[in-house]
Amino acid sequence: LPAPDGDFFGLLDTVTDEQRGVALQVREFMHAEVAPIMNEYWNRDEFPRQMIDAMRPLDLLRKVWNEDGTRKADATVMEGLITLEACKVDVSTAVFFGVHAGLAFASVALGGSAEQKAEWLPKMLDLKAIGAFGLTEPEGGSQVSQGMRTTCRRDGDAWVLSGQKKWIGNSTFSDFTVIWARDEDSNEVRGFIVRAGTPGYNVDKIQGKTALRIVENGLITLTDCRVPDADRLQEVKGWRTTADVLRLTRAGVAWQGVGCAMGAYELAVKYSQDRRQFGKRIGEFQLIQNHLVHMLGNVTSMFTMCLRLSYMADHDLMQDEHAALSKVFTAARCRETVAAAREVFGGNGILLENGVAKHFADAEAIYSYEGTNEINTLVVGRAVTGLSAFV
Ligand code: FAD
Repeated sequence: LPAPDGDFFGLLDTVTDEQRGVALQVREFMHAEVAPIMNEYWNRDEFPRQMIDAMRPLDLLRKVWNEDGTRKADATVMEGLITLEACKVDVSTAVFFGVHAGLAFASVALGGSAEQKAEWLPKMLDLKAIGAFGLTEPEGGSQVSQGMRTTCRRDGDAWVLSGQKKWIGNSTFSDFTVIWARDEDSNEVRGFIVRAGTPGYNVDKIQGKTALRIVENGLITLTDCRVPDADRLQEVKGWRTTADVLRLTRAGVAWQGVGCAMGAYELAVKYSQDRRQFGKRIGEFQLIQNHLVHMLGNVTSMFTMCLRLSYMADHDLMQDEHAALSKVFTAARCRETVAAAREVFGGNGILLENGVAKHFADAEAIYSYEGTNEINTLVVGRAVTGLSAFV
């Protein structure tokens, strides 16, 4: 019987040899290093810190970023393929990477001074310093740009930060978190590198998640936390810089949906070839084939869309609405695909050991973060009608 392969149109054959080579390296890494331990860490609600050392030899950040914090010519396609291959096995691994190498790295690269980049970027490229990105607040998710309550106040050669940040990935073990705060005097949004261990900076791990359990998300509380002016991101130009960082990473979240769905599809095909009922492999039943073909159509259209989106991003053709449509489309198709895959597994589909349950759960987080379905829909709706439905 043929081996399951979610790349039905051979899209991986259309990218450069280097891109394909990196994708295959990540595939091998995921199967060798992550697959054997991921269920144990899912159950423990914990990120395997040893994965950072195991990932280092792949030198993945340097496939995307130059030493000076500028992006490689094909950075978004490369990031997309890395994300795709990681998510086929484990979305949490891709989220760890996306937060560090995407959100945190981009914040320093776009908002940092030459000195700040020289201090942090080499260590980040080597995975010797891990970053987190603190934007969302308990009372400010979708509306965080208007409703940001975390404040900063200048006091001599330092700033005093107060407030809370919720859902902050990697923050329980990161070396620093980029904290976005509103200036009490000017109302401008500013970014800060807040180092682990700074007095007044406290991180509580969020417990009891039902998705992405291998990612550690923190609730950060800043209580009169003093940060030297030298650790204020010197080149931040208000919310514009925060939005630029998010724009750089949104394509990556669309790719998470592709990888999560493709991984679930491949598991479902394999299961349909093995599982027997009524004296036949269940893959011989027409209704099961219907599920698989529907899933494959979803995966193929998502993959095609994201390749084009990334090409557009790398050639300065991507607008916010292109990234928003891709995120809306892939997150919704992913949800549909993982549900069908779980169905093919019957009751076994809810057992962690069979793999598909983790994809099913993780699809829910993809659906809601980095711009919910509704918010990204409104971004596209505004672009196509010229009319804004935002309040
Ligand atoms: P809300 O904004 O409260 O939305 C609730 C519902 O209302 C949604 O359905 C939403 O679409 C809808 N809604 C809101 N406004 C409108 C409107 N105007 N019109 C129509 N519908 C509307 N943030 C970080 O800063 N750093 C991280 O590392 C990070 N990691 C995350 C990891 C996970 C696992 C999760 C779940 C979240 C993470 N986030 C992170 C936060 C994430 O970006 C937010 O959850 C997301 O922006 C949505 O905000 P919210 O959850 O507060 O939902």
